[in-house]
Amino acid sequence: MTDPADITLPHHLLPIDGRFGCGPSKVRPEQVLNLAKANAHLLGTSHRQPPVKQLVGSVRDGLKSLFGLPKDWEIVLGNGGSTVFWDVATFGLIRERSEHYVFGEFSSKFAEAAAAAPHLGDPVVIKSEPGTHPAIGSSDDHVDVVALTHNETSTGVMMHLRRPESDALVVVDATSGAGGLPWLPDEVDVYYFAPQKCFASDGGLWLAACSPKALERIREIGHSDRWRPASLDLLIALDNSVANQTYNTPALSTLVLLDEQLKWMNEHGGLDWCVDRCRQSAQHLYSWAEASSYASAFVTDPMQRSTVVGTIDLEGVQANDVNAALRANGIVDTDSYRKLGRNQLRIGMFPAVEPNDVLQLTKCIDHVVEALS
Ligand SMILES: *Cc1c(COP(=O)(O)O)cnc(C)c1O
Repeated sequence: MTDPADITLPHHLLPIDGRFGCGPSKVRPEQVLNLAKANAHLLGTSHRQPPVKQLVGSVRDGLKSLFGLPKDWEIVLGNGGSTVFWDVATFGLIRERSEHYVFGEFSSKFAEAAAAAPHLGDPVVIKSEPGTHPAIGSSDDHVDVVALTHNETSTGVMMHLRRPESDALVVVDATSGAGGLPWLPDEVDVYYFAPQKCFASDGGLWLAACSPKALERIREIGHSDRWRPASLDLLIALDNSVANQTYNTPALSTLVLLDEQLKWMNEHGGLDWCVDRCRQSAQHLYSWAEASSYASAFVTDPMQRSTVVGTIDLEGVQANDVNAALRANGIVDTDSYRKLGRNQLRIGMFPAVEPNDVLQLTKCIDHVVEALS
C-alpha cells in the first residue's frame, strides 16, 4: 500500500492556508503583524496602566457591538479558558441546582463539574446520542441554571438557542460557536467562550457576555457567605472587568490577537457577515460529502449540522491515512475528536478560514483517497 506521507498533492489543489483545526485554529497573518507592532507600546507593559486597559476596553466594546448587546449587558473576562469557567460557574452562577443538555464531550464536562461540587444539589441531565442534540423543553421547577451548548465541538452539532420555559438563568457554552453562529440576547443570560476558536486568537482566557439577570445572580452569590476561591470568584472578575482589568495578569498577546480579529469582523459587517462566511464554507463541505461515494455528513439532521465544525464520516478508507497524507502536505488538524472513536474527519470552518480553502480541501481529500486506493 502507498505510504500516505509519500503522497504529494498538486500545487493547484492546495488551500492558501492549511490550518483547519477546531482550536487552536487558524490565526490570520494580519493579526500577527499587528502583534509585532504592539511590541512597541503594549507587550511587556503593565496591565494596570492605560494602554492595556484601553486594549481590554476595546475587546469588551468590540464584543458588545459584534453581538449587538443591549447597554445593560457586561462582558466579563478572566484567566483559564472555558474549562475554568465551568468551575467559575459552579461557584458563582448556580445557586442550588443546574440542568444540563448533554450531547457530547464538552457539554458533559460542565455537568460533571456541577455534579462534583459539594455545595450544589445533583444536576438534572438531559442527554441525547452523539450526532444529535436534545430538544429544548421546559425545565424542572427546582433548577436555577439551564446549561446549553451553542456548538458541540466534539461531534459537530449546533443548537439553535432558545430560552426554555423556565425562570432559570440560561448559561451557554459558546466556545466554538461565538462569532460564527447567530443568537439573540433575549434567549440567553450568560454566553461564554474562549478566544482560540472563532476569534482566531490563543487560548487561556474566558469571556462571558452577561445579561442584567445574570449580573444580579453574580452579585447575589458574590455577597452570600458561600466560600469561593478568589481566582474563581465571578464577582471579583466582574468588578475587575468593568474597570477593563483582570484579577490577575492576562496574556497580553492573546488580547492583541483577539482585538485585531474583532476589528476585522466588525469592519466587514459584524456577526451576520461572519455567520455567512461560515455557511459558505459549510456549504462547500457538506455538498461535497453528499456527492461523494466514500464521505458522508455524520450529523444526519441538516438543521443540527454545524456550520463552524464539520464532521465527515469516511467509508472504505482510513481517516488516519487521509490525515497523515494531508499533514505531509501542510494541511493540518483535520482529525476527529479522539474520544468519539469514529472513522471521521473534523474540519474547523471558523470565520478566519477562507471558504474557498474549504473547497480546495475537499479536492485535496479526493486526490488523497484516489492515491490511497
Ligand atoms: C474548546 C471547547 C472548550 C474548552 O475550551 P478551553 O478554553 O480549552 O478550556 C469548551 N467547550 C467547547 C464547546 C469547546 O469547543
